[in-house]
Amino acid sequence: MIYLYRVEEKIISVKNLTKQYQTEQASGIQNISFDIKGGSIVAIIGESGSGKSTLLKSIYGLIKVDSGEILFNGKRILGPDEQLIPGHKEMKMVTQDFSLNIYAKVYDNIASMLSNTNVQAKQEKTIEMMEHLHIGHLRDKKITQLSGGEQQRVAIAKALVSDTSVLLLDEPFSQVDALLKNQLRADIKRIAAETGVTVIMVSHDPADGLFLADELLILKDGSLLQKGKPAHIYNHPDHIYTAQILGNAVVLKADDARKLGLETVKGDVVFYPEWVDLKSSWNSRRFEVKDVYYKGFYEELLLERNGVQIRAIQLNRGEHKKNDHVQANIDRFLSF
Ligand code: ADP
Ligand code: MG
Repeated sequence: MIYLYRVEEKIISVKNLTKQYQTEQASGIQNISFDIKGGSIVAIIGESGSGKSTLLKSIYGLIKVDSGEILFNGKRILGPDEQLIPGHKEMKMVTQDFSLNIYAKVYDNIASMLSNTNVQAKQEKTIEMMEHLHIGHLRDKKITQLSGGEQQRVAIAKALVSDTSVLLLDEPFSQVDALLKNQLRADIKRIAAETGVTVIMVSHDPADGLFLADELLILKDGSLLQKGKPAHIYNHPDHIYTAQILGNAVVLKADDARKLGLETVKGDVVFYPEWVDLKSSWNSRRFEVKDVYYKGFYEELLLERNGVQIRAIQLNRGEHKKNDHVQANIDRFLSF
């Protein structure tokens, strides 16, 4: 396998990267800088159009940027105008369409990435990579006979088989259902740990990357808003946008916050539904339960008081029902 990098060493440095497409409105990415440590999993999160794919393609060398640079192990990555075949030989990108040869067998799709100079080594590597991805049993199937999730595993095996040190994934889970998503997330984490490959994945759905990644990058309108460990960013978002995109946060205008007794606040107030503590006791902080949303092992309550609505998590399903009154303490909130 490819134990190339220890996690402490930075493998990629993005410096003041700017790319504006030839459009009237602002587009692309603006002045983005960050480092990526070798062997880590980085998730780039942002709403649609925030510049995620532009950033990923720039890192791979597929886009001619306006200014700034990207270093791979200290060496500048060349743009598409600077080399014959765009892309970087130590990186592989897997996009939503997987780019597989759908009429060829699984084995041949993966093996096609390796040279024929050592046929036995080629065979061994291909089989080893199939085992890694748990697709050994699919070896002789054609791509057209596979499910979306299986195709995805083949695409990742194909990307990793040829001494790849950076795997770039653009919206990797957008075609698969929730169950499969969980499996693939776990697979990616395991493979990264087993092979030492650095993973940079892009998604508009934080559920894809939030708890998988060592680091999150939050993109908005082409700018990097925040970078850090998932738990830290979740609990200490620098912007309302971050809290909204990561955690379905409740956002209240200052006036509305005051109506709930959050007196000390100046700007907008933001909190996650799980920061609201529910009690049955009867006191002045009474909210009416306007609606109950079933979420599987918990429920989300829509609560209202003085005309202001908030949401709270109810772990004890059925405890408070529609039209009930509850005491809700907003234990923690952020103001922006
Ligand atoms: P994301 O992947 O986060 O959805 P993109 O990087 O694809 O975002 O796009 C960022 C912004 O740049 C969007 O406003 C998009 O419309 C614009 N954009 C992307 N590609 C092009 C292009 N080839 N030509 C013009 N505008 C583009
Ligand atoms: Mg995109």
